[in-house]
Amino acid sequence: MSEMQNLKFLFPPRVKGIKIFDSEALFPVGKIYCIGKNYADHAKEMGGAVDRDQPFFFSKPPQAITQSSTISFPTQTNNLHHEVELVVFIGAKCSDIQKEDAHESIFGYGVGVDLTKRDLQDIAKKNRKPWDLSKGFDNSAPISKIVQNEKNVIRQGEIKLSVNGVEKQSSNLSNMAWEVDEIISWLSKFITLNPGDIIFAGTPAGVGKLNPGDQIDASIESVGSLSFKLV
Ligand code: MG
Repeated sequence: MSEMQNLKFLFPPRVKGIKIFDSEALFPVGKIYCIGKNYADHAKEMGGAVDRDQPFFFSKPPQAITQSSTISFPTQTNNLHHEVELVVFIGAKCSDIQKEDAHESIFGYGVGVDLTKRDLQDIAKKNRKPWDLSKGFDNSAPISKIVQNEKNVIRQGEIKLSVNGVEKQSSNLSNMAWEVDEIISWLSKFITLNPGDIIFAGTPAGVGKLNPGDQIDASIESVGSLSFKLV
């Protein structure tokens, strides 16, 4: 930190911080990776299948994170979708590690929603273009407070999302094709994970359209809950 204090930045660096249960400190956001097609039923509803040999990832920028209870309905979409996901927070640097060692890098967990402009994503898919603008827009990653759970791999627990009180997504973390330690190990073979990095662990079936005015309530057993309204 003292090294940082001696640097003369042209303007203040923009660092997002995420609130943590029972702590005054904030979790500084680094890189954000999201795994695709990690539940068989969601892969199927999107017209695909889980690939146990070759998982794929995309990123969201740190500014996508929000912990606000109201979120402005995003522009440039007619088909905004919800995807409830377990979020993993990295607390220790790791690179090219085995699954058996992956738990060492876990700081904690949260509940997140991977907001997706499905119409833009569909166009991008059709044209074999990247997903950045359909997945990485402002406030596209609402997230709960972090519950600290260091060095512990969560393998089960109910995961749910409702819209205006109507349940839309309901599954169990045990249905994830790639478990948390497998995801960390795989990612670490391609990039160095540092404290502050975040992984969205995929969504189960039941994704669907959101409208202005919708109230979204999501929860994961033993992790927490997340509520926000689109305005
Ligand atoms: Mg997702």
